[in-house]
Amino acid sequence: MAGSIKEVRGEAVKDLLIMKFGGTSMGSADRIKIAARLSREQLEQRPVAVVVSAMSKVTDGLLDTLRRAEAGDMEAVNKNLEALAERHLVACGELLSGPALDEAVKGVEELVAEFSRISHGIRMLGERPPRSVDEAVAIGERLSALLMAAYLDKKGVRAKAVNAKEVIVTDSVFGNATPIMDRTRDKAQRVLRPLIEDGILPVVTGFNGATADGRPTTLGRGGSDFSASILAAALDASELWIWTDVDGIMTADPRIVPDPAVLAEVTYREAAELAYNGAKVLHPRTLAPLVEREIPVWSKNSFAPEKPGTKIVPEVQAPPGPRAVTSMAGVALVSLEPDSAEVSGTRLMGRALDALSTTSAEVLALTSSSYRQSFTFLVRKDELPRAIEAIEAALSLELAHGYLKPIEVDDNVGLLAVVGEGMRGAPGLAGRIFTAISREKVNIIAIAQGSSELTIAIVVARDGLEKAVRAVHAECRMGELARYNQK
Ligand code: ADP
Ligand code: ASP
Ligand code: MG
Repeated sequence: MAGSIKEVRGEAVKDLLIMKFGGTSMGSADRIKIAARLSREQLEQRPVAVVVSAMSKVTDGLLDTLRRAEAGDMEAVNKNLEALAERHLVACGELLSGPALDEAVKGVEELVAEFSRISHGIRMLGERPPRSVDEAVAIGERLSALLMAAYLDKKGVRAKAVNAKEVIVTDSVFGNATPIMDRTRDKAQRVLRPLIEDGILPVVTGFNGATADGRPTTLGRGGSDFSASILAAALDASELWIWTDVDGIMTADPRIVPDPAVLAEVTYREAAELAYNGAKVLHPRTLAPLVEREIPVWSKNSFAPEKPGTKIVPEVQAPPGPRAVTSMAGVALVSLEPDSAEVSGTRLMGRALDALSTTSAEVLALTSSSYRQSFTFLVRKDELPRAIEAIEAALSLELAHGYLKPIEVDDNVGLLAVVGEGMRGAPGLAGRIFTAISREKVNIIAIAQGSSELTIAIVVARDGLEKAVRAVHAECRMGELARYNQK
Protein backbone atom coordinates (compact mmCIF):
# COMPACT_ATOMS: atom_id res chain seq x y z
CA MET A 1 0.00 0.00 0.00
CA ALA A 2 2.77 2.42 0.99
CA GLY A 3 4.33 1.80 -2.41
CA SER A 4 1.21 2.86 -4.25
CA ILE A 5 0.90 6.08 -2.24
CA LYS A 6 4.45 6.96 -3.16
CA GLU A 7 3.67 6.15 -6.75
CA VAL A 8 0.69 8.49 -7.03
CA ARG A 9 2.66 11.28 -5.37
CA GLY A 10 5.24 11.26 -8.13
CA GLU A 11 6.15 14.18 -10.37
CA ALA A 12 3.44 16.71 -11.24
CA VAL A 13 1.89 16.57 -14.69
CA LYS A 14 3.98 19.14 -16.52
CA ASP A 15 2.34 22.38 -17.61
CA LEU A 16 -1.15 21.31 -16.53
CA LEU A 17 -3.90 23.88 -17.10
CA ILE A 18 -7.15 23.77 -15.11
CA MET A 19 -10.04 25.61 -16.77
CA LYS A 20 -13.31 26.35 -14.98
CA PHE A 21 -16.46 27.35 -16.85
CA GLY A 22 -19.12 29.20 -14.82
CA GLY A 23 -22.90 28.97 -15.12
CA THR A 24 -23.35 31.47 -17.96
CA SER A 25 -20.39 29.95 -19.82
CA MET A 26 -22.28 26.61 -19.66
CA GLY A 27 -25.75 28.16 -19.95
CA SER A 28 -26.89 26.76 -23.34
CA ALA A 29 -25.81 24.41 -26.11
CA ASP A 30 -24.14 27.34 -27.89
CA ARG A 31 -22.21 28.31 -24.79
CA ILE A 32 -21.15 24.67 -24.21
CA LYS A 33 -19.87 24.54 -27.79
CA ILE A 34 -17.69 27.57 -27.10
CA ALA A 35 -16.46 26.12 -23.79
CA ALA A 36 -15.58 22.90 -25.59
CA ARG A 37 -13.74 24.81 -28.31
CA LEU A 38 -11.74 26.77 -25.73
CA SER A 39 -10.86 23.52 -23.95
CA ARG A 40 -9.80 21.84 -27.17
CA GLU A 41 -7.62 24.76 -28.26
CA GLN A 42 -5.65 24.51 -25.04
CA LEU A 43 -5.57 20.72 -25.09
CA GLU A 44 -3.75 20.87 -28.41
CA GLN A 45 -0.92 22.63 -26.60
CA ARG A 46 -0.80 21.22 -23.07
CA PRO A 47 -2.54 18.86 -20.62
CA VAL A 48 -5.89 20.21 -19.46
CA ALA A 49 -8.56 19.35 -16.88
CA VAL A 50 -11.91 21.12 -16.93
CA VAL A 51 -14.26 22.02 -14.06
CA VAL A 52 -17.86 22.95 -14.86
CA SER A 53 -20.69 24.73 -13.06
CA ALA A 54 -24.31 23.81 -13.52
CA MET A 55 -26.07 25.66 -16.36
CA SER A 56 -26.98 29.20 -15.21
CA LYS A 57 -29.87 29.37 -12.72
CA VAL A 58 -30.09 25.56 -12.45
CA THR A 59 -28.76 25.49 -8.87
CA ASP A 60 -31.34 28.11 -7.83
CA GLY A 61 -34.02 25.95 -9.45
CA LEU A 62 -32.85 22.78 -7.69
CA LEU A 63 -32.79 24.47 -4.30
CA ASP A 64 -36.23 25.93 -4.92
CA THR A 65 -37.54 22.48 -5.85
CA LEU A 66 -36.24 21.01 -2.58
CA ARG A 67 -37.90 23.79 -0.58
CA ARG A 68 -41.18 23.12 -2.40
CA ALA A 69 -40.84 19.41 -1.71
CA GLU A 70 -40.36 20.11 1.99
CA ALA A 71 -43.53 22.22 1.92
CA GLY A 72 -45.39 19.40 0.15
CA ASP A 73 -46.08 21.49 -2.97
CA MET A 74 -45.75 18.59 -5.42
CA GLU A 75 -47.31 20.48 -8.28
CA ALA A 76 -44.43 22.96 -8.19
CA VAL A 77 -41.91 20.13 -7.72
CA ASN A 78 -43.14 18.32 -10.82
CA LYS A 79 -43.19 21.51 -12.85
CA ASN A 80 -39.58 22.24 -11.85
CA LEU A 81 -38.52 18.68 -12.65
CA GLU A 82 -40.03 18.97 -16.11
CA ALA A 83 -38.24 22.26 -16.72
CA LEU A 84 -34.95 20.74 -15.53
CA ALA A 85 -35.27 17.77 -17.88
CA GLU A 86 -36.44 19.95 -20.76
CA ARG A 87 -33.54 22.40 -20.50
CA HIS A 88 -30.92 19.65 -20.57
CA LEU A 89 -32.68 17.51 -23.18
CA VAL A 90 -32.98 20.49 -25.52
CA ALA A 91 -29.27 21.14 -25.09
CA CYS A 92 -28.54 17.43 -25.77
CA GLY A 93 -30.55 17.66 -29.01
CA GLU A 94 -28.58 20.69 -30.13
CA LEU A 95 -25.19 19.23 -29.22
CA LEU A 96 -25.44 15.56 -30.22
CA SER A 97 -26.92 13.08 -32.66
CA GLY A 98 -27.19 9.31 -33.22
CA PRO A 99 -26.18 6.85 -30.49
CA ALA A 100 -24.31 9.58 -28.55
CA LEU A 101 -27.57 11.52 -28.30
CA ASP A 102 -29.46 8.43 -27.10
CA GLU A 103 -26.84 7.78 -24.47
CA ALA A 104 -26.82 11.38 -23.24
CA VAL A 105 -30.63 11.48 -23.11
CA LYS A 106 -30.55 8.34 -20.99
CA GLY A 107 -27.91 9.90 -18.71
CA VAL A 108 -29.95 13.10 -18.29
CA GLU A 109 -33.10 11.13 -17.53
CA GLU A 110 -31.30 9.05 -14.93
CA LEU A 111 -29.92 12.11 -13.18
CA VAL A 112 -33.30 13.87 -13.20
CA ALA A 113 -34.84 10.67 -11.78
CA GLU A 114 -32.20 10.65 -9.04
CA PHE A 115 -33.07 14.24 -8.17
CA SER A 116 -36.76 13.38 -8.23
CA ARG A 117 -36.20 10.49 -5.81
CA ILE A 118 -34.42 12.77 -3.32
CA SER A 119 -37.19 15.39 -3.67
CA HIS A 120 -39.83 12.79 -2.91
CA GLY A 121 -37.87 11.61 0.11
CA ILE A 122 -37.76 15.19 1.37
CA ARG A 123 -41.52 15.53 0.87
CA MET A 124 -42.12 12.41 2.94
CA LEU A 125 -39.79 13.56 5.70
CA GLY A 126 -41.20 17.08 5.67
CA GLU A 127 -37.69 18.43 6.12
CA ARG A 128 -34.51 18.92 4.14
CA PRO A 129 -31.56 17.13 5.74
CA PRO A 130 -28.46 19.14 4.69
CA ARG A 131 -26.77 15.99 3.48
CA SER A 132 -29.64 15.14 1.10
CA VAL A 133 -29.69 18.73 -0.14
CA ASP A 134 -26.00 18.51 -1.01
CA GLU A 135 -26.45 15.21 -2.79
CA ALA A 136 -29.39 16.57 -4.77
CA VAL A 137 -28.03 19.97 -5.66
CA ALA A 138 -24.79 18.57 -7.14
CA ILE A 139 -26.93 16.98 -9.84
CA GLY A 140 -26.88 20.38 -11.64
CA GLU A 141 -23.12 20.07 -12.14
CA ARG A 142 -23.35 16.36 -12.99
CA LEU A 143 -25.80 17.21 -15.77
CA SER A 144 -23.60 19.90 -17.28
CA ALA A 145 -20.46 17.73 -17.00
CA LEU A 146 -22.29 14.96 -18.84
CA LEU A 147 -23.26 17.31 -21.71
CA MET A 148 -19.81 18.83 -22.01
CA ALA A 149 -17.98 15.48 -22.02
CA ALA A 150 -20.40 14.00 -24.56
CA TYR A 151 -20.02 16.99 -26.88
CA LEU A 152 -16.22 16.97 -26.61
CA ASP A 153 -16.28 13.29 -27.49
CA LYS A 154 -18.34 14.05 -30.56
CA LYS A 155 -15.73 16.61 -31.55
CA GLY A 156 -13.03 13.95 -31.38
CA VAL A 157 -11.67 14.94 -27.96
CA ARG A 158 -11.51 11.97 -25.62
CA ALA A 159 -13.27 13.26 -22.51
CA LYS A 160 -14.78 11.80 -19.36
CA ALA A 161 -17.31 13.33 -16.98
CA VAL A 162 -16.04 12.93 -13.41
CA ASN A 163 -18.14 13.44 -10.28
CA ALA A 164 -16.00 15.46 -7.85
CA LYS A 165 -17.52 13.34 -5.09
CA GLU A 166 -14.89 10.80 -6.12
CA VAL A 167 -12.06 13.35 -5.93
CA ILE A 168 -12.58 16.18 -3.46
CA VAL A 169 -12.55 15.01 0.17
CA THR A 170 -14.10 17.44 2.62
CA ASP A 171 -15.18 17.83 6.23
CA SER A 172 -18.85 17.25 6.98
CA VAL A 173 -20.06 20.86 7.09
CA PHE A 174 -22.82 20.22 4.58
CA GLY A 175 -23.57 23.21 2.38
CA ASN A 176 -20.25 24.89 3.11
CA ALA A 177 -17.66 22.15 3.34
CA THR A 178 -13.89 22.62 3.54
CA PRO A 179 -11.52 20.35 1.62
CA ILE A 180 -9.08 18.05 3.35
CA MET A 181 -6.18 18.72 1.06
CA ASP A 182 -3.96 15.67 1.74
CA ARG A 183 -6.71 13.22 1.00
CA THR A 184 -7.95 15.24 -1.96
CA ARG A 185 -4.45 15.27 -3.36
CA ASP A 186 -4.20 11.50 -3.13
CA LYS A 187 -7.57 11.02 -4.75
CA ALA A 188 -6.91 13.56 -7.50
CA GLN A 189 -3.65 11.82 -8.29
CA ARG A 190 -5.38 8.45 -8.39
CA VAL A 191 -8.56 9.40 -10.25
CA LEU A 192 -7.62 12.32 -12.51
CA ARG A 193 -3.96 11.94 -13.18
CA PRO A 194 -4.18 8.61 -15.06
CA LEU A 195 -6.87 10.13 -17.30
CA ILE A 196 -4.75 13.19 -18.03
CA GLU A 197 -1.70 11.06 -18.74
CA ASP A 198 -3.74 8.90 -21.11
CA GLY A 199 -4.75 12.03 -23.03
CA ILE A 200 -8.34 11.91 -21.73
CA LEU A 201 -9.81 15.27 -20.74
CA PRO A 202 -11.51 15.05 -17.33
CA VAL A 203 -14.65 17.18 -17.10
CA VAL A 204 -15.06 17.46 -13.34
CA THR A 205 -18.19 18.71 -11.59
CA GLY A 206 -17.65 21.96 -9.71
CA PHE A 207 -19.28 22.74 -6.36
CA ASN A 208 -19.36 19.26 -4.79
CA GLY A 209 -17.26 16.76 -2.90
CA ALA A 210 -17.75 14.08 -0.27
CA THR A 211 -16.59 13.32 3.25
CA ALA A 212 -13.91 10.66 3.73
CA ASP A 213 -16.68 8.12 4.34
CA GLY A 214 -18.44 9.08 1.12
CA ARG A 215 -21.27 11.39 2.27
CA PRO A 216 -21.93 14.02 -0.41
CA THR A 217 -21.10 17.66 0.41
CA THR A 218 -21.01 21.03 -1.36
CA LEU A 219 -18.59 23.91 -1.00
CA GLY A 220 -21.04 26.84 -0.71
CA ARG A 221 -22.85 28.86 -3.36
CA GLY A 222 -20.58 29.89 -6.20
CA GLY A 223 -18.20 27.14 -5.06
CA SER A 224 -17.12 25.86 -8.47
CA ASP A 225 -14.30 28.43 -8.52
CA PHE A 226 -13.13 26.89 -5.26
CA SER A 227 -13.40 23.35 -6.72
CA ALA A 228 -11.15 24.42 -9.57
CA SER A 229 -8.54 25.92 -7.26
CA ILE A 230 -8.62 22.85 -5.00
CA LEU A 231 -7.90 20.67 -8.03
CA ALA A 232 -5.24 23.05 -9.33
CA ALA A 233 -3.43 22.74 -5.99
CA ALA A 234 -4.01 18.99 -5.71
CA LEU A 235 -2.60 18.34 -9.17
CA ASP A 236 0.19 20.96 -8.99
CA ALA A 237 -1.25 22.70 -12.03
CA SER A 238 0.81 25.40 -13.65
CA GLU A 239 -2.19 27.70 -14.22
CA LEU A 240 -5.89 28.09 -13.47
CA TRP A 241 -8.18 29.89 -15.88
CA ILE A 242 -11.62 30.89 -14.62
CA TRP A 243 -13.97 31.56 -17.51
CA THR A 244 -16.89 33.84 -16.67
CA ASP A 245 -19.21 36.41 -18.28
CA VAL A 246 -17.20 39.62 -17.75
CA ASP A 247 -13.77 40.70 -19.01
CA GLY A 248 -12.01 39.92 -15.74
CA ILE A 249 -11.82 41.43 -12.28
CA MET A 250 -12.97 45.00 -12.57
CA THR A 251 -12.57 48.14 -10.51
CA ALA A 252 -16.25 47.67 -9.53
CA ASP A 253 -19.23 45.45 -10.29
CA PRO A 254 -20.35 46.44 -13.81
CA ARG A 255 -23.95 45.96 -12.68
CA ILE A 256 -23.53 48.88 -10.27
CA VAL A 257 -20.94 51.21 -11.81
CA PRO A 258 -21.41 52.22 -15.45
CA ASP A 259 -17.74 52.66 -16.37
CA PRO A 260 -15.52 50.22 -14.45
CA ALA A 261 -12.21 49.12 -15.98
CA VAL A 262 -10.67 45.68 -16.04
CA LEU A 263 -7.65 45.31 -13.78
CA ALA A 264 -4.82 43.75 -15.80
CA GLU A 265 -3.28 42.26 -12.66
CA VAL A 266 -4.23 41.96 -9.02
CA THR A 267 -2.48 40.26 -6.13
CA TYR A 268 -3.86 37.14 -4.43
CA ARG A 269 -4.53 39.29 -1.40
CA GLU A 270 -6.45 41.92 -3.35
CA ALA A 271 -8.50 39.29 -5.15
CA ALA A 272 -9.30 37.54 -1.88
CA GLU A 273 -10.30 40.80 -0.14
CA LEU A 274 -12.55 41.71 -3.07
CA ALA A 275 -14.16 38.28 -3.07
CA TYR A 276 -14.67 38.20 0.70
CA ASN A 277 -16.25 41.64 0.53
CA GLY A 278 -18.81 40.69 -2.09
CA ALA A 279 -17.22 40.71 -5.59
CA LYS A 280 -19.09 37.72 -6.97
CA VAL A 281 -16.61 37.26 -9.81
CA LEU A 282 -14.59 34.92 -7.55
CA HIS A 283 -15.70 32.63 -4.74
CA PRO A 284 -14.02 33.96 -1.56
CA ARG A 285 -12.15 30.76 -0.77
CA THR A 286 -10.69 30.34 -4.27
CA LEU A 287 -7.30 31.85 -3.67
CA ALA A 288 -6.27 30.09 -0.45
CA PRO A 289 -5.20 26.74 -1.97
CA LEU A 290 -3.13 28.50 -4.65
CA VAL A 291 -1.11 31.02 -2.67
CA GLU A 292 1.42 28.63 -1.19
CA ARG A 293 2.18 27.05 -4.55
CA GLU A 294 2.00 30.45 -6.30
CA ILE A 295 -0.21 29.04 -9.02
CA PRO A 296 -1.26 31.96 -11.24
CA VAL A 297 -4.99 32.44 -11.89
CA TRP A 298 -6.62 34.16 -14.85
CA SER A 299 -10.15 35.50 -14.82
CA LYS A 300 -11.35 35.53 -18.42
CA ASN A 301 -14.51 36.20 -20.43
CA SER A 302 -15.82 33.20 -22.40
CA PHE A 303 -17.95 35.68 -24.36
CA ALA A 304 -14.78 37.53 -25.47
CA PRO A 305 -11.96 35.00 -25.15
CA GLU A 306 -9.55 37.14 -27.16
CA LYS A 307 -9.42 39.72 -24.36
CA PRO A 308 -6.54 39.25 -21.93
CA GLY A 309 -8.59 39.14 -18.69
CA THR A 310 -7.10 39.63 -15.24
CA LYS A 311 -4.05 37.81 -13.96
CA ILE A 312 -3.92 37.09 -10.23
CA VAL A 313 -0.32 36.89 -9.04
CA PRO A 314 1.78 37.26 -5.86
CA GLU A 315 3.01 40.81 -6.66
CA VAL A 316 1.92 43.48 -9.14
CA GLN A 317 3.66 46.38 -10.86
CA ALA A 318 0.78 48.86 -10.39
CA PRO A 319 1.41 51.70 -7.92
CA PRO A 320 -0.09 51.26 -4.42
CA GLY A 321 -3.48 52.76 -3.59
CA PRO A 322 -7.20 52.02 -3.85
CA ARG A 323 -7.82 49.87 -6.89
CA ALA A 324 -11.35 48.52 -6.65
CA VAL A 325 -14.55 48.96 -4.68
CA THR A 326 -16.99 46.22 -3.88
CA SER A 327 -20.22 45.90 -1.95
CA MET A 328 -22.43 43.44 -0.18
CA ALA A 329 -26.15 43.84 0.35
CA GLY A 330 -28.06 41.29 2.43
CA VAL A 331 -26.10 41.94 5.62
CA ALA A 332 -27.11 42.95 9.14
CA LEU A 333 -25.38 44.81 11.93
CA VAL A 334 -25.66 43.36 15.43
CA SER A 335 -24.78 45.48 18.48
CA LEU A 336 -24.15 44.38 22.06
CA GLU A 337 -23.77 46.78 24.94
CA PRO A 338 -23.44 46.14 28.70
CA ASP A 339 -26.10 47.70 30.90
CA SER A 340 -23.95 47.60 34.01
CA ALA A 341 -20.49 48.87 34.84
CA GLU A 342 -19.76 45.50 36.45
CA VAL A 343 -19.72 43.80 33.06
CA SER A 344 -16.55 43.98 31.02
CA GLY A 345 -17.19 44.76 27.36
CA THR A 346 -14.12 42.80 26.35
CA ARG A 347 -15.29 39.69 28.15
CA LEU A 348 -18.72 40.09 26.61
CA MET A 349 -17.19 40.38 23.17
CA GLY A 350 -15.03 37.32 23.80
CA ARG A 351 -17.99 35.22 24.86
CA ALA A 352 -20.19 36.42 22.02
CA LEU A 353 -17.47 35.68 19.45
CA ASP A 354 -16.90 32.31 21.05
CA ALA A 355 -20.61 31.55 20.68
CA LEU A 356 -20.51 32.67 17.05
CA SER A 357 -17.59 30.40 16.31
CA THR A 358 -19.79 27.40 17.09
CA THR A 359 -22.16 28.41 14.28
CA SER A 360 -21.34 28.73 10.60
CA ALA A 361 -22.13 32.48 10.79
CA GLU A 362 -19.17 34.49 9.60
CA VAL A 363 -18.26 37.86 11.12
CA LEU A 364 -17.71 40.16 8.13
CA ALA A 365 -16.64 43.26 10.04
CA LEU A 366 -16.24 44.23 13.66
CA THR A 367 -15.96 47.51 15.55
CA SER A 368 -15.92 48.32 19.23
CA SER A 369 -16.15 51.37 21.47
CA SER A 370 -13.99 51.42 24.58
CA TYR A 371 -16.06 54.22 26.12
CA ARG A 372 -19.41 52.42 25.91
CA GLN A 373 -17.79 48.99 26.19
CA SER A 374 -20.07 48.08 23.29
CA PHE A 375 -19.29 46.23 20.13
CA THR A 376 -20.91 45.76 16.78
CA PHE A 377 -20.43 43.15 14.12
CA LEU A 378 -21.73 42.46 10.65
CA VAL A 379 -23.12 39.12 9.44
CA ARG A 380 -24.98 37.91 6.36
CA LYS A 381 -28.74 38.19 6.78
CA ASP A 382 -29.28 34.50 6.11
CA GLU A 383 -26.88 33.69 8.94
CA LEU A 384 -28.46 36.21 11.33
CA PRO A 385 -30.97 33.88 13.07
CA ARG A 386 -28.23 31.37 13.86
CA ALA A 387 -25.91 34.12 15.11
CA ILE A 388 -28.54 35.65 17.40
CA GLU A 389 -29.64 32.28 18.71
CA ALA A 390 -26.06 31.34 19.62
CA ILE A 391 -25.35 34.64 21.37
CA GLU A 392 -28.64 34.61 23.25
CA ALA A 393 -27.95 31.10 24.47
CA ALA A 394 -24.40 31.97 25.57
CA LEU A 395 -25.42 35.21 27.33
CA SER A 396 -28.86 34.17 28.56
CA LEU A 397 -28.12 34.96 32.22
CA GLU A 398 -26.73 38.43 31.48
CA LEU A 399 -29.74 39.19 29.29
CA ALA A 400 -32.23 37.89 31.85
CA HIS A 401 -30.68 39.86 34.73
CA GLY A 402 -30.25 43.09 32.81
CA TYR A 403 -26.43 43.12 32.69
CA LEU A 404 -26.70 43.33 28.96
CA LYS A 405 -28.99 45.63 26.95
CA PRO A 406 -31.31 43.82 24.53
CA ILE A 407 -29.37 42.81 21.42
CA GLU A 408 -29.88 45.39 18.66
CA VAL A 409 -30.13 44.39 15.01
CA ASP A 410 -30.08 46.75 12.04
CA ASP A 411 -30.72 44.88 8.81
CA ASN A 412 -31.15 47.96 6.72
CA VAL A 413 -27.45 48.27 5.95
CA GLY A 414 -24.91 47.34 3.29
CA LEU A 415 -21.14 46.83 3.29
CA LEU A 416 -18.84 48.75 0.99
CA ALA A 417 -15.15 47.89 0.79
CA VAL A 418 -12.29 49.73 -0.89
CA VAL A 419 -9.39 47.44 -1.70
CA GLY A 420 -5.82 48.00 -2.83
CA GLU A 421 -2.28 47.00 -1.85
CA GLY A 422 -0.41 49.68 0.08
CA MET A 423 -3.51 51.75 0.83
CA ARG A 424 -2.60 52.27 4.44
CA GLY A 425 0.21 54.55 3.39
CA ALA A 426 -2.04 56.90 1.41
CA PRO A 427 -2.52 60.06 3.50
CA GLY A 428 -6.02 61.49 3.66
CA LEU A 429 -7.54 58.63 1.70
CA ALA A 430 -10.07 57.54 4.31
CA GLY A 431 -11.21 61.15 4.71
CA ARG A 432 -11.72 61.53 0.96
CA ILE A 433 -13.74 58.33 0.83
CA PHE A 434 -16.00 59.35 3.73
CA THR A 435 -16.51 62.81 2.23
CA ALA A 436 -17.42 61.31 -1.14
CA ILE A 437 -20.04 59.08 0.50
CA SER A 438 -21.42 61.88 2.67
CA ARG A 439 -21.68 64.18 -0.35
CA GLU A 440 -24.24 61.72 -1.73
CA LYS A 441 -26.16 62.08 1.56
CA VAL A 442 -25.61 58.43 2.33
CA ASN A 443 -25.48 57.64 6.02
CA ILE A 444 -22.22 56.04 7.22
CA ILE A 445 -23.09 53.68 10.06
CA ALA A 446 -19.81 51.99 10.97
CA ILE A 447 -16.22 51.87 9.82
CA ALA A 448 -14.02 48.83 10.11
CA GLN A 449 -10.55 49.83 9.13
CA GLY A 450 -7.35 48.26 10.20
CA SER A 451 -8.06 44.54 10.28
CA SER A 452 -6.51 44.29 6.87
CA GLU A 453 -4.05 46.84 5.61
CA LEU A 454 -5.44 46.63 2.12
CA THR A 455 -9.12 47.17 2.86
CA ILE A 456 -11.29 49.94 4.24
CA ALA A 457 -14.73 48.51 5.03
CA ILE A 458 -17.64 50.86 5.59
CA VAL A 459 -21.20 50.01 6.63
CA VAL A 460 -23.73 52.38 5.07
CA ALA A 461 -27.50 52.67 4.90
CA ARG A 462 -28.81 50.01 2.52
CA ASP A 463 -30.68 52.40 0.23
CA GLY A 464 -27.49 54.40 -0.36
CA LEU A 465 -25.16 51.45 -1.00
CA GLU A 466 -25.02 51.58 -4.80
CA LYS A 467 -24.80 55.38 -4.80
CA ALA A 468 -21.90 55.19 -2.34
CA VAL A 469 -20.09 52.62 -4.51
CA ARG A 470 -20.38 54.88 -7.56
CA ALA A 471 -19.22 57.91 -5.56
CA VAL A 472 -16.14 56.10 -4.19
CA HIS A 473 -15.28 54.68 -7.62
CA ALA A 474 -15.39 58.20 -9.09
CA GLU A 475 -13.59 59.89 -6.17
CA CYS A 476 -10.65 57.45 -6.31
CA ARG A 477 -10.63 57.58 -10.14
CA MET A 478 -10.37 53.82 -10.13
CA GLY A 479 -11.49 53.35 -13.74
CA GLU A 480 -9.08 55.97 -15.11
CA LEU A 481 -6.15 54.66 -13.08
CA ALA A 482 -6.72 51.06 -14.16
CA ARG A 483 -6.93 52.14 -17.80
CA TYR A 484 -3.79 54.25 -17.43
CA ASN A 485 -1.85 51.40 -15.79
CA GLN A 486 -2.71 49.08 -18.63
CA LYS A 487 -0.94 51.28 -21.15
P1 ADP B 1 -19.87 32.51 -12.99
O1 ADP B 1 -21.24 31.94 -13.20
O2 ADP B 1 -19.04 32.51 -14.23
O3 ADP B 1 -19.17 31.92 -11.80
P2 ADP B 1 -20.66 34.83 -11.44
O4 ADP B 1 -22.01 35.37 -11.77
O5 ADP B 1 -20.50 34.01 -10.23
O6 ADP B 1 -20.10 34.07 -12.72
O7 ADP B 1 -19.62 36.05 -11.33
C1 ADP B 1 -19.51 36.97 -12.39
C2 ADP B 1 -20.25 38.25 -12.04
O8 ADP B 1 -19.60 38.90 -10.95
C3 ADP B 1 -20.24 39.30 -13.13
O9 ADP B 1 -21.28 39.11 -14.05
C4 ADP B 1 -20.33 40.62 -12.36
O10 ADP B 1 -21.62 41.18 -12.41
C5 ADP B 1 -20.05 40.24 -10.91
N1 ADP B 1 -19.02 41.09 -10.29
C6 ADP B 1 -19.13 41.65 -9.06
N2 ADP B 1 -18.06 42.39 -8.78
C7 ADP B 1 -17.22 42.30 -9.83
C8 ADP B 1 -15.93 42.85 -10.12
N3 ADP B 1 -15.26 43.63 -9.27
N4 ADP B 1 -15.37 42.53 -11.31
C9 ADP B 1 -16.02 41.74 -12.19
N5 ADP B 1 -17.24 41.22 -11.97
C10 ADP B 1 -17.84 41.48 -10.81
N1 ASP C 1 -23.77 25.97 -9.36
C1 ASP C 1 -23.30 26.41 -8.07
C2 ASP C 1 -24.01 27.68 -7.66
O1 ASP C 1 -24.77 28.24 -8.44
C3 ASP C 1 -21.82 26.57 -8.01
C4 ASP C 1 -21.22 27.55 -9.00
O2 ASP C 1 -21.85 27.87 -10.00
O3 ASP C 1 -20.09 27.99 -8.77
O4 ASP C 1 -23.85 28.13 -6.56
MG1 MG D 1 -19.40 32.26 -9.74
